[in-house]
Order: sequence, then C-alpha cells, then structure tokens
Amino acid sequence: MTARTPLMAGNWKMNLNHLEAIAHVQKLAFALTDKDHDAVEVAVLPPFTDLRSVQTLVDGDKLRIKYGAQDLSAHDSGAYTGEISGAMLAKLKCAFVTVGHSERRQYHGETDAVCNEKVKAAFRHGLTPILCVGEGLDVRKAGEQVAHTLAQLDGGLKDVPAEQAESVVIAYEPVWAIGTGEVATPEDAQEVCGAVRARLAELYSQELADKVRIQYGGSVKAGNIAAIMAQPDVDGALVGGASLDTEEFVKIVRFRD
Ligand code: PEP
Repeated sequence: MTARTPLMAGNWKMNLNHLEAIAHVQKLAFALTDKDHDAVEVAVLPPFTDLRSVQTLVDGDKLRIKYGAQDLSAHDSGAYTGEISGAMLAKLKCAFVTVGHSERRQYHGETDAVCNEKVKAAFRHGLTPILCVGEGLDVRKAGEQVAHTLAQLDGGLKDVPAEQAESVVIAYEPVWAIGTGEVATPEDAQEVCGAVRARLAELYSQELADKVRIQYGGSVKAGNIAAIMAQPDVDGALVGGASLDTEEFVKIVRFRD
C-alpha cells in the first residue's frame, strides 16, 4: 500500500482580513518546524481577498505552508460577476481548492453536478480539489450516511479520469459535526472514510484508491485528532474553527506527539 502523507488543511471560512491573515500565517510559520513539515502537509484556505497576501508571504519567505481557496467558478472566464476562476487561483499559485463544502451546498445550492463541474475546473488549472462530502443529521439518524456520501462522491467525480482522480483529496465532513462541537467518533469517521476508499477502488482501481487522501472534518481539535488519525482510512483533517487558533492548529499538525 502507498504511504499517504497526512494533509492538515485550515479552512478559515469568512474570517481574517488580509492583515490578520499575514499575522496568522507568520505565527504559524514560526511555530512549525521542518520536522512538522516532513511528517504532515500543512495548508491554509483563506478567503479570496487574503490569497495574494498569503502568496507574497509564503513565496517571499519560501515557507513550506501550502495554501488554496475555499471555492472556484465552474467557468474559466467571462460574464460571471462575482466569481473567481481556477485560472486566477492558479496564477496566485494556489495548491488546493475546496469544492462542495457543506456551507456552499446548503447556502448556495451547490448540487453534485455543480461540484463535478468545479472539480473538473480545478483540474483544468492544475489545482488539487478537496471534494467535501458528508451527510446531514437526518440522513445520519436514518442510518443512510454511507449511501448518501458515496452518491456525493460518485456525482463529484463523474467522468473525472484516473490521471486526475488519483490526486483528488476527499474530505468526509458529516454536516452535523461542522462547527457544532459535536465530533464524529473515530469509528463513525472510519466507517465512511473506509467506504469512500472502497468506492474509489470500484470506480477506478485499488492502486488509485490507496493513493487518495481522505480527510475527516467536523469539530476537529487538538484533543480529538489523535484518535481520528489512528483510523486506517483517515489521512488528515479539514479544520475550521480550530485552524484560526495557531497553537491549537499546530497541536493538530503534531497529532502524533
Ligand atoms: C469546516 O469548516 O470544514 C469544518 C470542519 O469546521 P469545524 O472544524 O469548525 O467544525
């Protein structure tokens, strides 16, 4: 089996202006050591308005922190007022872009078909999409979490060729655990992350499935990350609230300590 480097990505959501962003990344850069970076890939996902500042800082100081955006347009350019294209994000040297975060699905009506277009747009521009999937509370109560999440996975990856799919990141984020303080148990996380990997093997191949990183997201904190990361199919975390606190985020990166 291929060794997968864990990916800890901080989703800042709509927080931190560009000055706060610089201060936050500087603090993070001071705290993280080469040992941390050798063991774990660390990324921040700031709002669009912070990306240029983060790029300047990371590149100017040659930091090992990666960065990316929280969304992108399905289109590459044109009359789409308010949208940001994959080409624009690539120009800012973004490495990642989240697609289909539950807040986009819930508040902006993003369907699996839209997410699929966005995944393809990300790959067209050399960005690694972090495709977010996961069930709401009603689905979880009905015991349908695996089927629901796999349907989102199938929809998001429709017609995505293996050469691209092998580098996608999947974030399993049960909606009821996001920003609620209610974390899934490690077993809950493993159940769905394991099913996601098995589906990737069905859709593509076991070899490809073994390469893909599957994150857990939902109220991850320093106190719960180690148990979640101990699960065989969890390869990192998409961290919201706790990623805004440098010390907490660094402890999450150092989940093995
Ligand atoms: C998220 O924004 O993807 C998330 C998981 O948020 P939180 O960690 O705050 O639950």
